[in-house]
Amino acid sequence: MAQILRDRIDKDGKVLNDRVLKVDSFLNHQVDPHLIMSLGQAFADHFKDRQVTKVLTLEASGIHIAFATALRLDIPFVFAKKRPASTQQGSGVYTAEVESFTRGQTCSITVSKDYITSEDRILIIDDFLAAGNAALGLISVVRQANAEIVGVGIAVEKSFQTGRKRLEDEGIEVLSLARLKSMDPATGVEYVKE
Ligand code: 5GP
Repeated sequence: MAQILRDRIDKDGKVLNDRVLKVDSFLNHQVDPHLIMSLGQAFADHFKDRQVTKVLTLEASGIHIAFATALRLDIPFVFAKKRPASTQQGSGVYTAEVESFTRGQTCSITVSKDYITSEDRILIIDDFLAAGNAALGLISVVRQANAEIVGVGIAVEKSFQTGRKRLEDEGIEVLSLARLKSMDPATGVEYVKE
């Protein structure tokens, strides 16, 4: 699986600068459903024996990957909202502050208390891991619910940033399908050798 994603990044990804990879043509704006189903299959294969009860992601760019993973695990997925809907009651939600890597703003993410409980074993899924703020916000939500975190599944990890270390320091397993060692607009992407 990792090879399919790496090949696609090499073919269609755009290195905007040494910190941002644009994957709008297959992952973040236009979406290749076959590729996404392969990502979901890879996460499901890895975590299938771990009694995951729900997949959790953050809107919007994690939703399709979480959907594919949840479908393959045959469980529901939940997406944290970046703007509380009027249907969400203030006291009825878990919240966490997340600083956006790409937009430079902080937002409050919310998940209804109805959809994560202390009985749950949660697999967190996201498209990118950079500084780890999105994943740590989701981890905070799971911990507020006294649920168990089984692990974090990431499509594209920028291994030159601090996210993996911050999650591993929390004792959390991280599975990333493509690990980027460095990026350069002139020469493209270099991968971590595994
Ligand atoms: P973190 O919270 O780990 O700093 O950043 C992860 C979030 O920022 C992801 O949900 C993703 O949407 C966005 N992100 C971080 N780095 C990149 C990048 O290089 N390219 C794109 N397209 N999104 C990124």
